[in-house]
Amino acid sequence: MTTSTPQITLSNGVQMPILGFGVYQIPPEQTEKAVTEALAAGCRLLDTASAYFNEDGVGRAIAKSGIARSELFVTTKLWIQDAGEQATKRAFEASLERLGLDYLDLYLIHQPIGDVHGSWRAMQTLLQDKNVRAIGVSNFPADRLVDLIDHNEIPPMINQVETHPFFQNTGYQTFMHDHDVQIEAWAPLAHGHDRLFGDPVLSSIGEEQGKSVAQVVLRWLVQRGVVVIPKSVRPDAMNENIAVFDFELTDEQMTRIAALDTGASLFVDHRDPAVVHDLGSFRIHD
Ligand code: NAP
Repeated sequence: MTTSTPQITLSNGVQMPILGFGVYQIPPEQTEKAVTEALAAGCRLLDTASAYFNEDGVGRAIAKSGIARSELFVTTKLWIQDAGEQATKRAFEASLERLGLDYLDLYLIHQPIGDVHGSWRAMQTLLQDKNVRAIGVSNFPADRLVDLIDHNEIPPMINQVETHPFFQNTGYQTFMHDHDVQIEAWAPLAHGHDRLFGDPVLSSIGEEQGKSVAQVVLRWLVQRGVVVIPKSVRPDAMNENIAVFDFELTDEQMTRIAALDTGASLFVDHRDPAVVHDLGSFRIHD
C-alpha cells in the first residue's frame, strides 16, 4: 500500500485505504485514462460497479499499471437485476472477468432492493471460498442493515452510503460502528454540487488551513473515520484530493462543519416507493 494513505481495519481483519477513487459516470472510453492517472496520483482503493459499465476500463488500467495486485484494493458492486443466490455468483464471475482479476477485495450489494438475502448467501460463500476479501452493502438504511445482520451468518463489513457536509450520517455512523460495520461515503464532495464549493463555512475553513474546499471536506470525513472515494477526471483534482493527510481540522472547525448537516439526501431517498421502483427497473444487461 502507499505509505501516504492510512488504512482502516474491517471487522474481519482486512485492511483497506481510507481514501481512494470512484469512477461513477466516467464514460467507459475515458475510464482507463482516469484510473491510470488516479493510480499515478497514489490512489490504491478503486470503486466501480457493474451498473457503471466501466469495469473493463478499470481492469485495463490495473493491468497496465505494473502495480502489485496486493497493493490495490478493488471494489465492485452487484446490481439489482442480478439479485438472488445463483445470479449473484454469475454476476460476480462476469465482473471479475471484465476487471481482469482473479479475486476481488470488496463486493457490495449496490441497492437494498430485490432478493438481497439470496445475494448475501452467495456473497458469504464467495468470501469463505476466498474469491473476495470482504463483503458489504450500499445504500442500506438501518432497518434493512439490521435485517441482513440478524438473519445471516456473516455481517456486512461495509455500508457505502451518501455522506457529505449536508448529509452527514453522524448518528448512523455510530449505529454502524456498534454493529461492526464500517461507513464508506459516496458523493463525499456532494457530487460536485455548487452548494458545496460555494459554501461560506467550508471556504473560510479552507482559507484558515490554506487548503481547498475539497480538501477540507475530505479531511473532515477521514478525520471522522469515514472511507472516501472522490471521483474526478482531472489529474490536478486527483492530486489535490489525496493530499489530506498533512493537516488536521481543529475541534472548532469540525463543529462548524457539523452545523451544515440537513439530515437529508441531496439526491435520492431509498425509502421512496417510486425510487425503489425506478432503480429496480433499471437493467444493465439482457
Ligand atoms: P463526488 O466524488 O462527491 O464528486 C465528484 C464531482 O466533484 C465531479 O463533478 C468532479 O468533477 C468534482 N470534483 C472532484 N474533485 C474536485 C476538486 N478537488 N475540486 C472541485 N471539484 C472536484 O461524487 P460521486 O462521483 O457521485 O461519488 C464518488 C464515488 O462514490 C463515485 O464515483 C462512485 O464510485 C461512488 N458512488 C456510489 C454510489 C452508490 O449508490 N453506491 C452512488 C454514487 C457514487 P471533475 O471530474 O470534473 O473533477
